[in-house]
Amino acid sequence: MEWRAVQRKNFTQFKTLFEFLELQPHHLPQLLEKSPFPLNLPYRLAAKIAKSTLEDPILRQFLPLAKEAVITPGFTADPVGDEPSRTSSKLLHKYQGRALIVCTSACAMHCRYCFRKNFSYETDKSFDTEIQAIVEDPSITEVILSGGDPLSLSNATLQDLIDCLSAIPHLNRLRFHTRFPIGIPERIDAPFLEILANTRLQSYFIIHCNHPQELDGDIFAALKKIQRLGIPVLNQAVLLKGVNDDIDALKTLCETLSDQGIMSYYLHQLDRVQGSAHYEVAEEKGRDLVQQLQALLPGYAVPKYVREVAGEPSKTPLD
Ligand code: SF4
Repeated sequence: MEWRAVQRKNFTQFKTLFEFLELQPHHLPQLLEKSPFPLNLPYRLAAKIAKSTLEDPILRQFLPLAKEAVITPGFTADPVGDEPSRTSSKLLHKYQGRALIVCTSACAMHCRYCFRKNFSYETDKSFDTEIQAIVEDPSITEVILSGGDPLSLSNATLQDLIDCLSAIPHLNRLRFHTRFPIGIPERIDAPFLEILANTRLQSYFIIHCNHPQELDGDIFAALKKIQRLGIPVLNQAVLLKGVNDDIDALKTLCETLSDQGIMSYYLHQLDRVQGSAHYEVAEEKGRDLVQQLQALLPGYAVPKYVREVAGEPSKTPLD
């Protein structure tokens, strides 16, 4: 099935998902029926959720909980300092040599802890200003396509954007930050692979998966097509209470990814976006989990445990 047809099957209505998951009236007080950050969950992920319980690691990432409405001191609208690093409406320049294009507001799914859920996304679809800014700054050698999710864009739009980027002589690398393959692996279609195969830029493909239950053979098959193009695939995970803050989940995640040649890149400490305090794991526990991973897995399978501190020149190591 064409990926947009798959995406149209996403759960976006609370009641429909509630019934699909066979949740019960006694669960309702723990849930948030209406949220400014809308429910959005691909069918593939919803089908992997255990029925009649709220204690499922996929459910806890995507079904709005009443705790989201709790205001917690120290949690803010822009925890990673996106706004101060915004050099145009769609360009963020935080780190030396790299610039990030916020390609779109759209995602394959809505993760409840998203650090960019309050971002004031630009509605104008043109990338002319961003391309011009990169042309004028020869210190930029790598562009990160992010969002939202860059794979929400059509292949034609991606082709145009990547053609423009490829024509900039000082650019060498192109990075995709995407969660699309985890929910809708059909997005890795032949025209998209063609675009990746034909750019002169060295691409890197960074997925976002937090728990092994999210993964399946279709996802690996789609990612394998990218790997066969000589494009490294890496994973970033977020350490989340009630989702993956246990050694078995993290070990299985890292090992399963390694078995597929996917590097575990980062384990992120939660970005403290307002409404996400119930996901926060103490850094001490995070460090302990990563030390346990180091004792159980080869070094290349252990992610770097980091926090993003607004204004810092790189991610801050925590292990
Ligand atoms: S896929 Fe990424 S950008 Fe989209 S909601 Fe999830 S964390 Fe946020």
